[in-house]
Amino acid sequence: MAARYADVIIDISHEKVDRPFQYKIPQELADAVYPGVRVHVPFGKSNQDKTGYVVDLPDETDYPVCKLKSITSVDEKGISAEGSQIQIAYWLKRQYGSTMITALKTVLPVKQKLKRPEKKKVTGMISRDELPEVIKQCERRHQTARVRVLQALMEDDVLPYDLIRQKLNVTAAVLQAMEKQGYLRIESEAYYRNPVRHVETAERRVALSEAQRHIIEDVMQEYRAGSPGTYLVHGVTGSGKTEVYLGIIEQMVSMGKQAIVLIPEIALTYQTLLRFYQRFADRVSVINSTLSMGEKYDQIERARTGQLDVIIGPRSALFTPFPNLGVIIVDEEHESSYKSESMPKYHARETAVQIASMHGASVVLGSATPSLEAYYRAKRGEYKLYRMTARHGGSSLPGVYTIDLREELRQGNRSVFSRRLQELMRQRLRDKEQIILFLNRRGYAGFISCRACGHVMKCPHCDVSLSEHRNGMLVCHYCGYEERKPLTCPVCGSRYIMGFKAGTEQIEEALHKEFPEARVLRMDADTTRTKESYEKILSAFADEKADILVGTQMIVKGHDFPNVTLVGVLAADLSLNQNDYRAGERTFQLLTQAAGRAGRGKKPGEVVIQTYQPEHYSIVHAANQDYEGFYEEEIAYRDFMQYPPVSHLLAVLVTSREQEQGAALCEKMTELVKSRMRAADNCHAWRGIRIIGPTEATIGKINDLYRHVFYVRHADYQILVSVKDMLERFCKEQELKNQSVQYDFDPMSTY
Ligand code: ADP
Ligand code: ZN
Ligand code: ZN
Repeated sequence: MAARYADVIIDISHEKVDRPFQYKIPQELADAVYPGVRVHVPFGKSNQDKTGYVVDLPDETDYPVCKLKSITSVDEKGISAEGSQIQIAYWLKRQYGSTMITALKTVLPVKQKLKRPEKKKVTGMISRDELPEVIKQCERRHQTARVRVLQALMEDDVLPYDLIRQKLNVTAAVLQAMEKQGYLRIESEAYYRNPVRHVETAERRVALSEAQRHIIEDVMQEYRAGSPGTYLVHGVTGSGKTEVYLGIIEQMVSMGKQAIVLIPEIALTYQTLLRFYQRFADRVSVINSTLSMGEKYDQIERARTGQLDVIIGPRSALFTPFPNLGVIIVDEEHESSYKSESMPKYHARETAVQIASMHGASVVLGSATPSLEAYYRAKRGEYKLYRMTARHGGSSLPGVYTIDLREELRQGNRSVFSRRLQELMRQRLRDKEQIILFLNRRGYAGFISCRACGHVMKCPHCDVSLSEHRNGMLVCHYCGYEERKPLTCPVCGSRYIMGFKAGTEQIEEALHKEFPEARVLRMDADTTRTKESYEKILSAFADEKADILVGTQMIVKGHDFPNVTLVGVLAADLSLNQNDYRAGERTFQLLTQAAGRAGRGKKPGEVVIQTYQPEHYSIVHAANQDYEGFYEEEIAYRDFMQYPPVSHLLAVLVTSREQEQGAALCEKMTELVKSRMRAADNCHAWRGIRIIGPTEATIGKINDLYRHVFYVRHADYQILVSVKDMLERFCKEQELKNQSVQYDFDPMSTY
């Protein structure tokens, strides 16, 4: 059925996106009108001819049809930057579920008054010959922040002030003091014009390895031949992926094309950004969360008007409206921060592939531990896979010990630290090297396991951990299955069957008891309420003001601490037994990353993984740094259970003020899908739908809103899209009050 109505935004100016007007689509234009297209319409009392953009094609209109005006004509000049952004917004709305306005606001930047912020640069005032002596002096005085600045100035004599402050963790006071001492000069200027003085880049170029050259040539050759693809570069940290990105972007830029580089916020480190600045000077810019709305808009305008070739940033940088997009890079593509947590809940990797296909651009994904999604598609030939194995820059992979906590209990050790970990910690404290202790407790939802044999209580239907509820019941948050908590272990009969209680605070206490001489820093949600406190803890640790850093997963990413030679994972089971089908994948990634924290500097590192399930494949393969082995077992599990990426899963989350109301709506929607399934022909694709739930969400209530959820599973993503469309229509008819419904395709975790 051809669309009959169109929502049109007149003369788009971004702050007005929330005012679309409805028009009729005349029969003869039915094929030419689609979201993103520019149209002429009569507007206002005098029916002035105005241009506007079609943003949506609603099935029906809320206005009396006789009062609607008709679109006059379609602008033939092809799709503009705004037009293609509207197309993307429409795609997001369809593919992930949300209103069109919300999708447009996701894609279009908010227009704000341009107030050019003052930018500063730092110029080194000490000659290269004298610098090493000054650095030595500072080292003797343990002025580690100064050492970091001076070392950076050793490499480049002009540096962006913000980069030093934020990414080298140096305070303004230290920089001022250094200026007083005559070490450097701080000047104001629009630094983005020339963030780094043009250093002789040729000098720093590395000679590309054979593998690197091959990837760059291959990607560019396919691009030039008019068949750009999606590529997955699988290589450990330090294997030279960034060099590959730089090489591809450079060739794109020389052809007049632009590049979007997605890097998770936490991995936007000083070193990485500097390499892009050095290569692309004033033609590169960074978008991150510290920019104001106005600054963000400013960067996007520079991109749109051809003043930039490269933009770097987290998820939202994806919507930068370049006129001639050549490539989208998604570094650390497995990161869960690439999935939006608000509607539309889009995944940046999938959206990148869509945007690239609209622009005829290539997509390059990179990771040391690829997501199951990306690797699965690479294996099926949808993406082209490249492997980079050797590690550049010298430092070797750390030695890993897996410690069986059941054995520790048997030997009478009830400390949270195994004997091996204690021994290695003593050694590090003696040698003045640093230690990171890691408690991976994100999404921790009270699983029950046996301390004697390691047995974990799981749902017999879903193969995910059961969660303990206060009423003594164990509950599955996928399907709602319940059973009473056993008093003894059903496998070995031990009475030590219980939840794992230790938090970072308890660990800190235990450290004070067992290692009274050690200086300890703690980093978790409690100690990092503000961005400042987060930076403060990191710089204190970088300055070696503490021997041990205890924390949650926020410590395993991004930052480099060259003096850390020991990493302890206190209870690998915590992330393994989340009631979640991605738990194994997340654990493997976390452990691999944690291991990568040890021995970044010249000294070799060691890693201790403590666990009740040393035989679990996520732990075994992480300890061996064997991605392939892990993938094979994990994909077999996903295939057997029909979880993504083998099949697809749509989570439908209902939030409500009244508990019964929410439960009833969830139930009704489930029934609706079921009745449509029954009504479908035997051979119809809807027959392949499986419904899981409905049930109360893991966190049943947030901010006084009750949460209920059910899941719809099907091998064909587009079937789930049509289920979502049907449910959206249903909810619209219901005119829901005090209730809302959210959709999440292939969720990153359960609700
Ligand atoms: P990744 O992005 O995979 O972590 P990088 O591209 O950052 O890896 O490379 C790690 C280090 O090795 C960097 O310091 C980089 O300059 C260096 N490097 C990369 N490729 C080469 C090469 N072909 N020859 C010498 N050094 C290299
Ligand atoms: Zn047991
Ligand atoms: Zn279940």
